Amino acid sequence: MTASKVRFRFYEELNDFLPPERKKRDFDYAFDGKPSVKDAIETCRIPHTEVDLIIANGASVGFDYHLKDGDRIAVYPVFESIDITPIVKLRDKPLRKTRFILDVHLGTLARHLRLLGMDVKYRNDYEDEEIVREALEEHRIILTRDRLLLCRKAVTHGYFLRSTHPPEQVAEVIRRFDLVDSLQPFRYCMQCNGEIHRVDKSEIEDQLLPRTRKYYDVFYRCSQCGKVYWEGPHFEGLARQVEQFVNGDTEN
Ligand SMILES: [Zn+2]
Repeated sequence: MTASKVRFRFYEELNDFLPPERKKRDFDYAFDGKPSVKDAIETCRIPHTEVDLIIANGASVGFDYHLKDGDRIAVYPVFESIDITPIVKLRDKPLRKTRFILDVHLGTLARHLRLLGMDVKYRNDYEDEEIVREALEEHRIILTRDRLLLCRKAVTHGYFLRSTHPPEQVAEVIRRFDLVDSLQPFRYCMQCNGEIHRVDKSEIEDQLLPRTRKYYDVFYRCSQCGKVYWEGPHFEGLARQVEQFVNGDTEN
């Protein structure tokens, strides 16, 4: 018996994951048995976290749909601006609060996102299993450059960063998760992700250098690691950076 075949077409940025001969065109996909459409999509190298809508023979289907010989399957990415609620969503609603967990090697992105007021968990010694477990337990979105991490079965919310350049990655994240209106700079400690609060100068005076003590009066302190922030030249430099990210100026 010859293998069965379906015809796939992937849309928009899902093409980022395909080899040139499969980009932006129909192609045949051969299979044995009755694989789920999710397995077939991931065999085509596309993490399921990137997919938001699957149309099989004109009707929307879930990840658990099983391929049948002759099917025509169209696969769409997460839509940013088109409302597809009346059709089918593959995932329950978006996570209520946008929180992230970052793969190892994304330390610079972690600090940038914290600077913008995002709740970001990051360690440079995470095992993949830990990232997945903490993402699920704490309802965090995984950001990574590792396609296979997002293909893990348990993963529900994740995003594959296209760029390797931190400021561009920040812009990607802001666009993908529609965060422009929810940025709150200087809320989380850049170092440890602890929350930052106003603190009386008298409480931290003994930690300050003489010049800082003399010229500044407004201070913030990380509730976790105790790092002290103030609105000095460094702070203003950060504020400028934030503005650049928000305005999509990735020159930096
Ligand atoms: Zn801290």
